[in-house]
Amino acid sequence: MRLLRRAARVILVGAPGVGKGTQSERLLSRYPELSHISSGDLLRHNVKNRTPLGIKVENIMKTGGLVPDETILRLITHELSQRGWLSGVRPSFMTYTSAASDDAVSAMDTAADSPIPGIDTDPNAGASLSSEASEDPWASFLLDGFPRTAVQAERLDDIVPVNWAVSLQTPFEVVMERISSRWVHESSGRVYNTTFNPPRVPMRDDITGEPLVKRADDSEEVYKARFQKFQETSEPLLEYYAKKGVLWEVHGHSSDEITPKLFEEFERQFLQ
Ligand code: AMP
Repeated sequence: MRLLRRAARVILVGAPGVGKGTQSERLLSRYPELSHISSGDLLRHNVKNRTPLGIKVENIMKTGGLVPDETILRLITHELSQRGWLSGVRPSFMTYTSAASDDAVSAMDTAADSPIPGIDTDPNAGASLSSEASEDPWASFLLDGFPRTAVQAERLDDIVPVNWAVSLQTPFEVVMERISSRWVHESSGRVYNTTFNPPRVPMRDDITGEPLVKRADDSEEVYKARFQKFQETSEPLLEYYAKKGVLWEVHGHSSDEITPKLFEEFERQFLQ
């Protein structure tokens, strides 16, 4: 049994296609103390439950925009406090629904047609909490989708300091090659790779025998644009964590090459 010595507060940063999801899954299944906290999931949960916050962010999410920093920070803070990982959080946070607990729903219902306390009336309320992050290893988390900007990172550090920021690095050409050899069976979503997971009959689905197609966003042009956008937004974020001394870079051509290095460093940081 591998037990963490201290709380791990981790963020993985990586370009689209480098296998961030794969590494997250592997970390989460190996270290039971780690929880997965996804800002996208928390937001979608609020949209689904028609909370004031959900109603407010629904259109922004639909059009692919970024939800205001203040909103997202309060949502994350609420989530952490619901889990009992913060102390000193104000009760106005009870207007959100949380993936960890739905206790807040009834409190929210009564406030449904009044402005969200603290958000519309006082945009800074709750943002400068004198909260304390728990050092209990069971208060360890892997953040997904947050922070996205240096501003969000800085504000998060006021609430809970991230103590390990991992930058996953795979050469652009390698990811590009992987994407261009990827083919899918449209109706089932089965994915093949002509290099390391080819279909039994070239360009045909193994089960139905139907032809394989390219996914719309698997074109070189689309990927290049996404990669460039990622570079622009992640640079200040990575710089921020580098300055704080918590950034660690890992290089590899595949997920399987990266995972053992990631585990080794994680254990050096949090288990020894
Ligand atoms: P995701 O599931 O991470 O792709 O997030 C889905 C949507 O939620 C994004 O397109 C944004 O509109 C919103 N969102 C998630 N995380 C953040 C964040 N850290 N800052 C701002 N908006 C976010």
